[in-house]
Amino acid sequence: MSIATVNPTTGAVEKSFDEIDDAELERRLQVAHDAWLAHRKTTFAERSAFLLKAADLLDADAETLGRTITVEMGKPLAQAVGEVRKSAKALRFYAEKAEGFLAPEPLDDPSIVDARQAFSVFQPIGPVLAVMPWNYPVWQVIRFAAPAIMAGNVGLLKHASNVPQTAVYLEELFLRAGLPEGVFQTLLIGARRVEKVIRDTRVAAVTLTGSEPAGRSVASIASDEVKKSVLELGGSDPFVVMPSADLDQAVATAVTARVSNNGQACINAKRFIVHADVYHEFLEKFVDAFSKLRLGDPLDAATDIGPVSTEQGREDLVELIEDAKANGASVLVGGSVPEGDGWFVEPTVIADLTPKARLFYEEAFGPVASVYKVSNLDEAIDLANDTPFGLGSAAWTNDKAEQQRFIAELDAGSVVINSSTISYQELPFGGTKRSGYGRELAAEGIREFTNLKSVRVC
Ligand code: NAP
Repeated sequence: MSIATVNPTTGAVEKSFDEIDDAELERRLQVAHDAWLAHRKTTFAERSAFLLKAADLLDADAETLGRTITVEMGKPLAQAVGEVRKSAKALRFYAEKAEGFLAPEPLDDPSIVDARQAFSVFQPIGPVLAVMPWNYPVWQVIRFAAPAIMAGNVGLLKHASNVPQTAVYLEELFLRAGLPEGVFQTLLIGARRVEKVIRDTRVAAVTLTGSEPAGRSVASIASDEVKKSVLELGGSDPFVVMPSADLDQAVATAVTARVSNNGQACINAKRFIVHADVYHEFLEKFVDAFSKLRLGDPLDAATDIGPVSTEQGREDLVELIEDAKANGASVLVGGSVPEGDGWFVEPTVIADLTPKARLFYEEAFGPVASVYKVSNLDEAIDLANDTPFGLGSAAWTNDKAEQQRFIAELDAGSVVINSSTISYQELPFGGTKRSGYGRELAAEGIREFTNLKSVRVC
């Protein structure tokens, strides 16, 4: 894939970039290595000052950067600006919390290990490569970069090829914030050159957020090099609605949970599993709400849903819809591609799916909701877990015993009762099963790329 901004609203190429050549890649890897040798010795206070400055710059740029995000990947402008502001908050969060998250952990009774003192320390490991997706082009990078830099590591960003302006902005952001050259760099390279970077002896580890095939490839190369990897992959999150739920609230939340970010978030709710007692009422209201969503130019404040971000992404989504129809599913609203420019797909609700349809097990990355009817709690939990993924999950019920069952039995990296999955910097984020491994955010996120060193002072 060439490195270019191709506006998904119009299909027009707005700006193209050349990949860096091998000599420049080599230079940048050496700069990263040298920068790490100095950065690892800086204090938390020094790192924190840089991140707080970067946060202020991000806030100041929120409107213009938000516009760039919208032009590059098509999410509604207000959501793009919100993403930038959320990222500034995460920079401040790690600037303030990192020292505490990485504070030495003493053993209560060091005499047990024949020492006067025994404790663990968390130390930086070196340059970390981040292979990142286009769907939250600023948030995904900042939630990697903020903890990496605060831990004393340095960051190498290989961003998705369709968000190069955002990628270049991010390197400049950290330089403007005063971070020395090499502490955070953007590598304008295509996916096929990721292997070379992972295998480079100066690179310590890799984190990837993206699709399963990309994750599998990156993880196998990293394991071949015996390097740590973290994978944040796809999801097909269940959103379960039981009879005791507040149905109007559940419907309103369900719609937003499915279509926010144009339906292209890993943690969008994708499968709506509804108890038979409330199925028809839920479905009627859900379909009605979907039919009122405004599809259009994401720069227009009245728009709810913009285009799918890439032409290939739209093709994949249309294939899933057609396959579902061919396998007996019912399209209750939407299901088509509107006339005109851009890679739009109508907001779509599909019911009567069976495991024969690909949509039953595959992730729909766009505004397509699948609805299922179940007759009891056990069936709801079984269906929710009948997926290769395990990222987020949501269950709507006011019955305390049911809530406990969902918390205990949903196979996912998170479970939310009576709301929808949202990433918070305070909560660890990640998945199980084919949604990946490792955690981002909170204390767990910053500790992922550190060396936990055990110390005995005898
Ligand atoms: P993708 O194709 O896997 O791209 C993600 C990144 O990986 C891009 O930088 C891409 O570079 C690179 N890449 C692709 N193939 C690669 C390979 N074989 N080796 C090394 N790098 C490779 O993902 P996508 O389809 O654009 O993004 C959507 C997916 O990401 C969805 O499945 C979504 O659920 C998932 N996602 C997960 C999370 C999470 O936190 N769990 C968050 C957001 C998105 P190029 O652009 O140059 O190809």
